[in-house]
Amino acid sequence: MDLSWYDSQLKLWVRGARKLKLHAGLKQTERFLLTTTYINMFERYFDKVCEEAWSILVLTAWSFLLRVASEALDIVAGAEDWEHAWPDEVSQALWVDTEGYACLKLRKRKHRPRGSFMRRPCTCKGSTPRFCFPHRLAKFLRGVRPGTSLWKISSSQLLRRLKGLLLQQAAPKADLMGLKAFRAGMATEMVKKGAPLRFVAGLGEWRTRAMLTYIDEDVVDKVAFIEASCDGSDREDELGVNE
Ligand SMILES: [Zn+2]
Repeated sequence: MDLSWYDSQLKLWVRGARKLKLHAGLKQTERFLLTTTYINMFERYFDKVCEEAWSILVLTAWSFLLRVASEALDIVAGAEDWEHAWPDEVSQALWVDTEGYACLKLRKRKHRPRGSFMRRPCTCKGSTPRFCFPHRLAKFLRGVRPGTSLWKISSSQLLRRLKGLLLQQAAPKADLMGLKAFRAGMATEMVKKGAPLRFVAGLGEWRTRAMLTYIDEDVVDKVAFIEASCDGSDREDELGVNE
């Protein structure tokens, strides 16, 4: 199958998107994106100062590239057999399966009316369970009944707290942080580290997956493309958050 026309068209599109951004004065330097370093900082702080739920919420949003406002705040504890059948009233559930994967099920997702089921593997093989998301999650969920709400944290509370911490640390551009800094930040960081675009788009369940498959530009263009995709599809993150 000859897809060369598609490739060149997409390259043009990426260049166009960059020019549009420049034209609108939206330079990349004017955005704030989270990184693993910031996530680790939040985790350390919340473990010391807050309830553990804050750390788990941050790790969940980061690991699953969630649209925080609509996908991360109403999560309940799930159970392994919920992958195929689950209570009618539940819309988002999180659990750890027998193989040690963190599992998240969403009844509905933007562009995915039939919802979504995602898994994330242990990264520590038992060596540093304290810093491994599925290991931490398993410990956090021990003894929690399926159906129980995991946290009572609003999007404005979360944003205010995270931004406050970043500003305290004098993180550059932290005053520009919005909740899309999770989804866009994780995707951008993975692309910068060299993860294949198809892989990143799959992890974030982007509708633009098919297009991303054929991108072959330099990293800056790839990142610009991911950011443009986030701009288009994640606007809801900012709704209801006036900061
Ligand atoms: Zn682990």
